[in-house]
Amino acid sequence: MRQTQLFTKTRKEAPADEVAKNAQLLIRAGFIHKEMAGVYTFLPLGVRVIQKIADIIRSEMNKIGGIETQSTALQSKEVWDKTRWSDDIVDNWFKTELKSGGVLGLAFTHEEPMAHMMKNFIASYKDLPAYPYDIRTVFRNEARAKSGIMRGREFFWKALYSFSQSQEEHDIFYQNITDAYIRIFNAVGIGDKTFLTFASGGTFSKYSHEFQTLSDAGEDIIYVDRSSHQAVNQEVYTDEVLADLGLDREKLEQHKSIEVGNIFSLGYKFSEPLELTYTDQDGRAQLVYMGSYGIGISRLMGTVAEVLHDERGLVWPESIAPYRVHLLSLGSDDAATVLYDMLVQRGIEVLFDDRDVRAGEKFADADLMGLPHRIVVSQKSLDAGGYEYKARTSDTPEIYTQDVLLARLTQ
Ligand code: ATP
Ligand code: MG
Repeated sequence: MRQTQLFTKTRKEAPADEVAKNAQLLIRAGFIHKEMAGVYTFLPLGVRVIQKIADIIRSEMNKIGGIETQSTALQSKEVWDKTRWSDDIVDNWFKTELKSGGVLGLAFTHEEPMAHMMKNFIASYKDLPAYPYDIRTVFRNEARAKSGIMRGREFFWKALYSFSQSQEEHDIFYQNITDAYIRIFNAVGIGDKTFLTFASGGTFSKYSHEFQTLSDAGEDIIYVDRSSHQAVNQEVYTDEVLADLGLDREKLEQHKSIEVGNIFSLGYKFSEPLELTYTDQDGRAQLVYMGSYGIGISRLMGTVAEVLHDERGLVWPESIAPYRVHLLSLGSDDAATVLYDMLVQRGIEVLFDDRDVRAGEKFADADLMGLPHRIVVSQKSLDAGGYEYKARTSDTPEIYTQDVLLARLTQ
């Protein structure tokens, strides 16, 4: 991608009303645009990050039997009347009126619509288990929207819903998805800071599990046990729970944290009111055992921005950087174009800063945008025998020949 084709621009200052570091950096670097509090447009660079995170999640969900759907953004009152339509139960639901009469809800989660839909497809034990998942936008009328894209009124997530014959079958999947979540958070570069966290349970399990990433920008408080890489949410931090989990209060560290994902055993909470049943091997009707599993994809992007940045800007991990390489031409456009074409031909994702601006501006923007590998082509680098290479995480540029450079980028 040539940077002259990118319509977005970096900016020195974030909007004055933006207090969250993730949004300040992402706005300044041209990844997102603030439409209003808690509502952001994803710009071309931001879309690439979101899609890479979504692809990592999609591939992990598919590995454990997940199968992708696209649920509706408009939700039927009739379906939800049996469970949670009341404002006393869900207080952050955007609802609107139909011209033809009646009301509907803007999608904020899909346990009920999924269960309702699955009534069409689940009849016998042979139809189970089933693991449909959505990667989509959802809406919540959040009271506070001060955490940038970590708490949007409109946000992008993955939500999987599991439909199992029994708790035993469910428990196996629950462990599989726990392992998949751990792989996902490792893959996006925050595994060392992200802890499987015991939180208050659903109706059918003692605990639910959250995945919490340590950060002072977080809205949660957790107690971390480093040795087992687990944590306990403040909401269940009692002597009784610690004893139950075999954790020693003395060894736990208190931290602020961001909930990047969570998993719930739902049991019959929704299948019962929605009458989602199947016929077992003995011909008896049984309720389907459900679970639900979310990851806030846009929150995860904001979390990476919070956790991985320095005073100069963003520092993307290789796996989710919008482009791997930032190629800067300093007055050597011909040589830089040859290198750009060669890298692109080899399948390497390159953002080519071919703009006619000062060198200092190119360097500052490269640091702000935070692509993992920076290459400078200038008369100076060519005279020295090649290209100037610097990793975003390093302070020392080096001159590489083409071969050494290629080896570095394909290792
Ligand atoms: P929180 O406790 O942060 O309000 P939640 O427990 O209501 O979140 P769920 O409804 O279980 O969250 O949603 C699943 C995941 O979606 C969360 O773990 C989080 O990563 C993400 N998420 C929830 N609310 C938002 C939001 N307003 N903006 C961005 N991501 C969100
Ligand atoms: Mg929560």
